[in-house]
Amino acid sequence: MLIPGAEGPKAPGGKVGRVSSARPKIGVLALQGNFREHVAVLRRLGAEPVEVRKAEQLQGLDGLIIPGGESTAIARLSSIYGLEEAIRRFTGPIFGTCAGMILLDRDHLGLIDIHVERNAYGRQVASFEADLALDGEQEPLRGVFIRAPRVTEAGQGVDVLAELDGEPVLLRQGRFLVATFHPELTDDTRVHELFLESVREASLVRS
Ligand code: GLN
Repeated sequence: MLIPGAEGPKAPGGKVGRVSSARPKIGVLALQGNFREHVAVLRRLGAEPVEVRKAEQLQGLDGLIIPGGESTAIARLSSIYGLEEAIRRFTGPIFGTCAGMILLDRDHLGLIDIHVERNAYGRQVASFEADLALDGEQEPLRGVFIRAPRVTEAGQGVDVLAELDGEPVLLRQGRFLVATFHPELTDDTRVHELFLESVREASLVRS
C-alpha cells in the first residue's frame, strides 16, 4: 500500500498527478547501522527520507526512525552530536528497530516504558528468522532477528502488536513503535506502513 497522495513526480514508478507536499518527511538517524535500508523502504512507500546526523536536521520532520546497529555506538555518537536531547524534544512519531528500540527504552532515552535485555538470545542463536503473527493480519510477518534484544518488561500503556513464542517483538506506546527485529531487511513493508499511518494521523491532528 502506498500513502494516498504520496507520490510526487519523482516517486518510484514515475506515477504522476498527485500532490508531492503530501509526502511525509521521515528522518532516519544515520550515525551507524542499517539506516540505508530504512531509507530505501521509505522511498519505496513514497515517503521522503532524510538522513539525520545533526540535531537541527530534526526540524520540520514528520517522523523519525532509529535503526538497528550497535546501540552502544549509536548512543555514544548521539550524545557527542547533541542528538539525545534533540530526540527527547522531538514531538513526532518515532520508530526504533533493534538497537533503535534499545535507545528508546527506560535505561536510555526513557521515551518508551519497556525494559530491554540486550543480545538476549545468546551466541548459538544470535541470528535467526521466524514467522510472526501480526495483530489484525492473516498473513504472517517474516522477522529477521540479529543479535536481538528481548523486552523483559513492558508498562501498562504499551500494546503488543506481534509476538514470538509468547514474547513481545513489536510494541507500541502512543507515538512510539519498536521492533526487536529488522523489518527493513525483508520485502514486506507492513511495519513501515504501520509507522507511516501513525505519522499521517499525527499530522492530521496537528493541522
Ligand atoms: N546487539 C545490538 C545491540 O545491543 C542490537 C542488534 C541489532 O540492532 N541488530 O546494540
